This record gives sequence, structure tokens and C-alpha cells, in this order.
Amino acid sequence: MITVSHLTVYYRTVQALWNVSFTVQSGRLTGIIGPNGAGKSTLLKGMLGLVPIAQGEAIYRDRPLMHQLDQVAYIPQRSQVDWTYPATVWDVVLMGRIRKSGWFRRFSTVSRRVATTALERVGMVDYRDRPIGQLSGGQQQRVFLARALAEEAEIFCLDEPLTGIDQKTEAIIFDILRELADSGKTVLVVNHDLGEAITHFDDLVLLNRELIAVGDRQSVLHPENMNRAYGGMVNFFSARAA
Ligand code: ADP
Ligand code: MG
Repeated sequence: MITVSHLTVYYRTVQALWNVSFTVQSGRLTGIIGPNGAGKSTLLKGMLGLVPIAQGEAIYRDRPLMHQLDQVAYIPQRSQVDWTYPATVWDVVLMGRIRKSGWFRRFSTVSRRVATTALERVGMVDYRDRPIGQLSGGQQQRVFLARALAEEAEIFCLDEPLTGIDQKTEAIIFDILRELADSGKTVLVVNHDLGEAITHFDDLVLLNRELIAVGDRQSVLHPENMNRAYGGMVNFFSARAA
């Protein structure tokens, strides 16, 4: 379980996240939803200490999560990745083993086996020698998921893995995420689309700069909550003032 308390993040003058508190259960698939600019990416980054935090914390096993990043596999939003980087699929997945192998050391047989198994799991083993920049969006996302699997982490944080991908990739991703949750891992996924994919999540965190609702999917998707989150600035500010 991860406990987030009073998390508040500013970028210069922009208040991206205000006083957000909730818990994430392990063994369940948790989605983070909310409109564009709601602070979904900021929430993940704030929990991991990747942006300066004005107030609050994320605690995992009695310690700040940001000091246990060796437990975390994080896949950033695709738009934040430099796709011209000249790495092959195999390079990218092996990078997931660096924490286990150490920089500058040769990758062990175990690491190579784990990386191969991860690529097989996402159906991308035949692409191992291809430059990552030449793949489709869905294929790239599968490779990043393979890298996350290769990390053998306890906590998986994925920022919009479903954006701009094909049906086949979506099915593979949810299959794997469900398996991770079933094996007791903590799985946190930012998903800005409210389409059918959302039914895969057990729990939801609904954000619009502040926490609107959290809990099991059905209760969070209550129209009143959705209205507060998506109903435009007028509703947002009046809800806030209330
Ligand atoms: P989401 O992922 O929900 O679309 P973000 O967390 O990316 O939202 O952004 C939340 C708010 O913070 C937005 O208003 C965005 O413009 C702003 N923001 C995000 N990153 C930065 C940054 N590095 N510098 C300044 N403002 C930022
Ligand atoms: Mg985002």
C-alpha cells in the first residue's frame, strides 16, 4: 500500500496539485483520471520525488517512496520521451536491468534471460535489433512495458500507456497489468481517456488539481464526481468554494 498525504506541487506560479491525499492498494489496478492539465502526471512525479514538492509525501512500507525508487518501475508519458535516441529495442529493455547489474558492468546471464522473457511477454522479441524510434506507438509502448517488467519492481507507475496505441497492444498491456496486480504488485496507471478501457480498473483516483474522488471504479464514476472534475472551470471553482 502507498499512502499519499497532502501532496502539493507548484511549478513556479502554477499550482499543479493541491493537498492530495489517498491510498493505493497493492493487488488492485488503480487508474488516475481527470481532464487535461489536472495534474495526473504531476501526481506520479510528485509521489516519486521527480518534481519539487511544496508539501506532503508518499509513504511506502513506512518510508518515503522517493527514497525507494529501486522498488519502482516508471514509464513516463510518451510525449516526454526523446524518440531520436539511437537505441535498439534490446538496449531499451536491458536498461531495465541496470539497477540490478550496476552501471559499467556487463549484464549477467540472468539479466539477459529476464530481458528476453519480458520481450516475449509483450510479443516484441522479434524486434529486438530494431531502433526504438522506428516502431509504431503501440510497439514502443510494449517495449517500455517490457523494460518495466525487466526491472522486477514492486510498484508500477505508467503514465498514459494507452494513448495512441492499437487494440492488440491495449489487450496485451491490460493482460500484463492484471497479472502484476494479481501477484500482489502495486499498479498505478494514468489514463486520460474515459472510454471502455476504463472498465479494466478496480480503483480510480479522480483529479482536477485537487482530489475529486477516490475508491472503487463505480463509486468514483458517479455523475456528481465527474461533473465536478469535468464540468468546466465554473463548476470547479464553485465546488472548491463550497
Ligand atoms: P496532466 O498530466 O493531468 O495533463 P500535468 O501534471 O502534466 O497534467 O500538468 C498539470 C499542470 O501543471 C498543467 O497546468 C501544466 O501546464 C503544468 N505543468 C506541468 N509541468 C510543468 C512544468 N514543468 N513547468 C510548468 N508548468 C507545468
Ligand atoms: Mg499527463
